[in-house]
Amino acid sequence: MPKTRNETSGQRGPSKKRKADSEIDKPKKASSRLKQTESFVARRTQSKAKLSMLPSLSLDILFEIFSHLSPIDLIHLARTTKDFRRLLMQRNTTTIWKSAFAQIQELPQCPSDMSYPAWAHLAFEPVCHNCFTTNIRNISWILRTRLCNRCAKTCLENVDKFDADKNEVDKDILECVPFDDDYCGMECCLESDRKRFVEELEAHKHDRKDFVEQRMTEIPVRIDHAIDCEDWSESLANGRANELQQIRIDRRNAISAKLFEMGYDKELDFLTAERLEDVEHSDYVPFHKHPLVKQPKLFKDKNWDSMKDTLRDYMEIVRAYIKRKERKDLIWKRREYAALAWFDYRMVECDPGTFLPNQIDIWLWSPVKDIIEQPSEIEVTKDSFEHAFRGLPAFTNAWQTDKLEQLVRVANNNLKWLSFPEANDLERATCVFSCSNDFQHNLMGCYQEDESCIMWFPEFIYHRCNSLSRRRWGDKDETITDLDSCQSLSAESEASGFRRRQWSTRWLFFDDKASRTVKNILTACRMPLSTRVQHLDREDPRLVCLKCSFGAKCDGERVFSVMTWRTAVQHNLKKHFGDGQTTFQRISSLDALEAKRLEAAEPARRISALPNHPQQPIDRPWRCTLCRDRSVEKGALTLAEMRKHYTKCHDGKVAIEEGVDYYRSYDRAPSQPYQVRMKPRDPDVDPQPGPMYIAAI
Ligand SMILES: [Zn+2]
Ligand SMILES: [Zn+2]
Ligand SMILES: [Zn+2]
Ligand SMILES: [Zn+2]
Repeated sequence: MPKTRNETSGQRGPSKKRKADSEIDKPKKASSRLKQTESFVARRTQSKAKLSMLPSLSLDILFEIFSHLSPIDLIHLARTTKDFRRLLMQRNTTTIWKSAFAQIQELPQCPSDMSYPAWAHLAFEPVCHNCFTTNIRNISWILRTRLCNRCAKTCLENVDKFDADKNEVDKDILECVPFDDDYCGMECCLESDRKRFVEELEAHKHDRKDFVEQRMTEIPVRIDHAIDCEDWSESLANGRANELQQIRIDRRNAISAKLFEMGYDKELDFLTAERLEDVEHSDYVPFHKHPLVKQPKLFKDKNWDSMKDTLRDYMEIVRAYIKRKERKDLIWKRREYAALAWFDYRMVECDPGTFLPNQIDIWLWSPVKDIIEQPSEIEVTKDSFEHAFRGLPAFTNAWQTDKLEQLVRVANNNLKWLSFPEANDLERATCVFSCSNDFQHNLMGCYQEDESCIMWFPEFIYHRCNSLSRRRWGDKDETITDLDSCQSLSAESEASGFRRRQWSTRWLFFDDKASRTVKNILTACRMPLSTRVQHLDREDPRLVCLKCSFGAKCDGERVFSVMTWRTAVQHNLKKHFGDGQTTFQRISSLDALEAKRLEAAEPARRISALPNHPQQPIDRPWRCTLCRDRSVEKGALTLAEMRKHYTKCHDGKVAIEEGVDYYRSYDRAPSQPYQVRMKPRDPDVDPQPGPMYIAAI
């Protein structure tokens, strides 16, 4: 069955149901406007006057005149007077209708079981066949009807209603009554068709079989005809669409010409460019979608006065928008210059890798901000910042102090068991921060599955989340609100869709559990609570967890996992949920030496013992000095990768130097060795030579 075009019109005209006294009868469009009514009455009088001459004209002449009319004209004519109606409904006027239809290119023939007027009514009058609502384009060629949404509910019957297996009549209905497989959202037939068929079936009780067979043969013919009609209506719609499009273009051009004369040439060019790039924003509708422009109506000069003011207002809005946009673009261009000037300055004046503001923090520094925001007429280049940059050392110092103080505040906000009165104390081993932005960590692949994000000095200062953000996630704490639009802030090497942001402690919090664990480790090492990270790293003790051994200490017999202090903290967080009561024992320095030897051999041992077990990730501690904070930055690299990067991206430079061309990335802890299994001896007794250890895990 043909698919009907589902163009159900959203509009619904007057829904007053009128009884049709003929299938071509149709109520005239009533108009409430007096003027229209008057002219309508005048037309009626005129046509009556003309029609009074009808008897005086010979039929031949009338037929000759009528044969030049279109089918819809004939329908309208038939409605004007009873005489015309009678005349045009006569069988012998078929030739008039034929010649009228002949003017419609490619329209399929009038079906043999339909009258010409009914055919014209179906094909050309966009009204609901039930309630005469106008502008109904939703046609079913197979059902030969047009129905509005409301009438569709009452006049159509869903195919599901009939069951060919259970009911003989239903079986005949399904075979003999025309069904549309997709009309008004369902497979359906007309209730009237079905009723008429059932009545006829009743009347053919004696030759029911012949009757049904005869009806069945009619269905394929009707389907073929419907398909032809559908093709025709589709091609007509396409042709019409092109025609309307041309009218719109002509209208747009005509209005553009008028606006051009009014001096809006720049704005028109801008709007055209936006249309080509498909730009839409909330400031104004695109020109081609403006209500006065988009109409498919020929533009006439006489209409210009009535639309002139509206369009001038519109163009003024566009003009103001362009001005704002130009200013914004200029500001961004100046920011780029400031960033380049900053990178140059940093290369010369600062040690690579030190804790420094990024370009966004520089843009917000008032001497730079003032230059960026100078009036548009003033030219700003990279050199414009030279003078202001003399204040940079003081600014970067103040900036660093401010950020460290922010961290102290975050620490003091969460700290329950000791206090850090000043920034220096951030270096204590008991000062542990964590970051709550787990989602971002996952995207960056920062931590392994069993690893907690815990950070000591200086990792928490350099932590990536402090100065990175995902685009379009709108970190609401940022001073500059449209950073998302700035491509040079891209940090795609960290994770897809990432960009730089103003440095912030937004996601950081003081990790009390980790801090207490460090306290217990320091106690085990008999070191003071004020011990700094650097000192503890230098000491590099090896520890065993006494919670795992239920309090039993090293005795040379018991097997323990031996850990570094950082691994011991991770262990307590993971295995003992950060229990503040977990105690540790530091193994003897001799055993520690042996543990380090085993640790060094451990990766190779694991590869041979557990080839399918995931290995520790490759350590990538280096970052490129030249690429720092730029969109081309490659992220953290191994030394070999750094060499390759320099060869490829920095003029093939081969001799690269640590602390000059590349720097250690402090955003994550130094990589830790595997835990090893040993039988450490009692560290309080004199160490015996040759510690016992177990290699198997
Ligand atoms: Zn209707
Ligand atoms: Zn983070
Ligand atoms: Zn444990
Ligand atoms: Zn580089």
